[in-house]
Amino acid sequence: MGEIQNIVILTGAGVSAESGIDTFRDAGGLWEQHRVEDVATPEGFARDPDLVLRFYDMRRAAIQAKQPNAAHHALARLDAEWPGELLIVTQNIDDLHERAGAKRLIHMHGEHLNAWCTGCDTRSPWTAPLIDRPACPACGVHGHLRPDVVWFGEMPYRMEEIYRAINRADLFVSIGTSGAVYPAAGFVREARASGARTLELNMEPSQGNHWFDEARQGAATWLVPEWVEEMLGG
Ligand code: NAD
Repeated sequence: MGEIQNIVILTGAGVSAESGIDTFRDAGGLWEQHRVEDVATPEGFARDPDLVLRFYDMRRAAIQAKQPNAAHHALARLDAEWPGELLIVTQNIDDLHERAGAKRLIHMHGEHLNAWCTGCDTRSPWTAPLIDRPACPACGVHGHLRPDVVWFGEMPYRMEEIYRAINRADLFVSIGTSGAVYPAAGFVREARASGARTLELNMEPSQGNHWFDEARQGAATWLVPEWVEEMLGG
């Protein structure tokens, strides 16, 4: 891969699976026994805020007990050592990339360990429950904090920056994502259209598998360190 300077890496739930965080697929399309429409849409939140807040409170607690795996560590090493441009775009709302040390990172679907005050529009680091309607650390008002995660039907974060990086990329790599959730599932086509090579690392062929120049199948904790070694050693 001699000509490559700029890399964009898209990660999905599969990269955190071996840390013990379920993917949608593992859960049979349900998220921890809940329908996605109930716990991951603005309409679900409006209908039953207690259910949604409790759901995210449990997951926020669970994530803090998990650890980054060899795939997160390998990507953090690539980030630290790669001399060209590099951007990790994650669909994951866990913080395992940054706990492994990744710096050039965008959470396009938000972060589990942030709370967003819809009253004053401030985002604050948040590790405690939200069910008791705590006060916003910025404005002091109770009742307006929600998980800072992008639900279905909401706009993902920092899309302009992401497309700019994709359009400059020589290599686009998709890791542990099913290719079912847009707009992320469309990034590979955007990358191809602007001339990047495309590589998929996933347990099984994704839905957009045919858009990739190369696809390798297997566990992220095996495939990702091997690929990073190729990039840095070769
Ligand atoms: P997905 O569940 O739709 O797909 C996961 C993919 O990872 C599947 O194709 C599966 O074959 C693959 N996979 C499973 N285990 C793997 C492993 N050990 N190594 C390599 N690949 C593996 O997840 P998605 O594509 O990220 O999209 C679904 C949405 O779910 C995203 O919007 C994301 O925000 C959300 N989500 C996030 C988390 C998280 O933050 N950790 C967990 C579940 C869902």
